[in-house]
Amino acid sequence: MLNIVIFGPPGAGKGTQSEKIIEKYNVVHISTGDLFRWHTKNDTPLGLKVKEIMNSGELVSDDITIAMLREEVEKNPQASGFLFDGFPRTVPQAEALDELMKSLGTEIHAVVELDVTEAEVRSRIAKRKELEGRVDDADDKLEKRIQEYFNKTVHVLPFYKEQNRLSTVNGIGDIDGIFNSIAEVLDQHAS
Ligand code: AMP
Repeated sequence: MLNIVIFGPPGAGKGTQSEKIIEKYNVVHISTGDLFRWHTKNDTPLGLKVKEIMNSGELVSDDITIAMLREEVEKNPQASGFLFDGFPRTVPQAEALDELMKSLGTEIHAVVELDVTEAEVRSRIAKRKELEGRVDDADDKLEKRIQEYFNKTVHVLPFYKEQNRLSTVNGIGDIDGIFNSIAEVLDQHAS
């Protein structure tokens, strides 16, 4: 198995690089942001529960997020690996992910951080907002999401760094060049 975490602020290019990773390594993509957006769009009980907090740009509670993630992993017993995107965002989520992987007799093999400056992130999201009109990219929410990343989510990085599991890749440059750097990291673990 090849289990990967992709990390980076909103607008870092996680979505774009994730598509390329899935194609090359045949892993199941689990994006907690996409899952939450699906639930809110379809007004599921979970969606109704998290709609307000999502629209505010704040993080959904660990309990809810971990339960949703676990369910999604368990839906894919035949997977040859997973790409976790937007998860973990807190240390308890990172610990829960390790436990979940352990219960499946596997582990997280690579944690890839896309390193992008705050200024670059702001300019990219402004462009995306025009193209896709994502509700959570509205100005006030965008600010909150950027802050959530740089104030809270970054605290997960030392958790992986201390265990020598973190690979930082420069997220500024052309898409294929960035992907080649990611592939160099992943090829060390792919069999
Ligand atoms: P994203 O597209 O990954 O930026 O996620 C969009 C929104 O979904 C976030 O602003 C949070 O409200 C929620 N969300 C996504 N992933 C998580 C997570 N791992 N923990 C808590 N909230 C999350």
